[in-house]
Amino acid sequence: MDIEDTLLMIPGPVKVAPRVLRAMSKPMISHRSGEFGAIYSECAELLKEFFQTKNQIAIMTGSGTLGMDAAVAGIIGHEDKIVTISNGKFGERFTEIGERYGKCVPVKFDWGMPFDLDRVEAALEEGAKAVAMVHNETSVGLTNPAKEVGRLAKKYDAVFIVDGISSIGGNEFLTDEWNIDIAITGSQKALAVPPGLAVVSVSPRAEERFLAQSASYYADLKAHLKSARKSPAQTPFTPAVPLFFAMQEALHMAAEEGFAARRERAAKQAESVRSAAKALGIELFPQTNENSHYSNTVTAMKMPEGVSDDKLRGGMKKKGVIVSGGQEQLKGKIFRIGTMGVCSSGDLLRTIQTLELILLKEGNIHSCGVGVEAMSRVLDS
Ligand code: PLP
Repeated sequence: MDIEDTLLMIPGPVKVAPRVLRAMSKPMISHRSGEFGAIYSECAELLKEFFQTKNQIAIMTGSGTLGMDAAVAGIIGHEDKIVTISNGKFGERFTEIGERYGKCVPVKFDWGMPFDLDRVEAALEEGAKAVAMVHNETSVGLTNPAKEVGRLAKKYDAVFIVDGISSIGGNEFLTDEWNIDIAITGSQKALAVPPGLAVVSVSPRAEERFLAQSASYYADLKAHLKSARKSPAQTPFTPAVPLFFAMQEALHMAAEEGFAARRERAAKQAESVRSAAKALGIELFPQTNENSHYSNTVTAMKMPEGVSDDKLRGGMKKKGVIVSGGQEQLKGKIFRIGTMGVCSSGDLLRTIQTLELILLKEGNIHSCGVGVEAMSRVLDS
């Protein structure tokens, strides 16, 4: 299969628009120039629309995890407690990071299960400098209750750190309204930029509670914020300049579409995937409740009866459509389809059509079309 014909439907990295790819091939500029500073400042301003914040934004060269690492390293010292809530792979990553820098108090739920807020509150009652959670748990396709945890963080005066890596730009994400002190995203998700930039917003409250010295030299948020506030805006170290070109172009695209319109499109697209799954008799993986919802950016589905991961994802790959499998204990048990960034109706219809062809071959369905029809009904509504 020609790489040009391959359709990437994983929950990041996502498809990148040709005009964004072209922007990356511009001649190099000095990262200490006014030209670079203008790009940085414009990106930071536009990113505030995605983050729904007035807080200062720092753009760092590195993947999303760098943003998570920077947040915890800047706030948590050896003697400080951090409550880390998890119901999937990336929540558990916060626990691993917390254990590196301080005293971690994990509040752990089974993968794909909603948070029990009473357990979160009980952990916070014991006293903690910070609480960290993942808004959109990519590994299980569940959107967690950031607003409700934000309320608890405020009540117990803890710095609220939220991984919005697969959320910001796709799901509703209200940094300021939800009391989020440090919010993080990565360029390769809903921003539809190639991987390599981490974006972090930091509230004045979090800045007041920074450690005198971050445990990280490279990811020292104080240094990144200081450089971002310079005129022209800068980064402490040499950034991945072509990725800034790409980010600026991708944000122009988002502004042209409208930030709210983009979120609404993702919501409709995810609903269309869920509708196709239902029509094909495929069960969704996560459990939802009044505060925890199916994700708008990634749909996690159980592997259909009697079909192996190799047959399903391997078969789809041979037809040029790449979807994700399960991670760790969910390997072979689920598969996931991303609906982020510039994903189109055509991309989605091709994905479901390809899935149907595999299910037909495996004897799970007797004819093709019901999934595509169900999807199309939602997309056209
Ligand atoms: N957090 C979430 C919710 C993610 O989806 C991912 C990546 O898939 C990460 C963290 C890690 O991001 P990165 O691989 O960019 O470091």
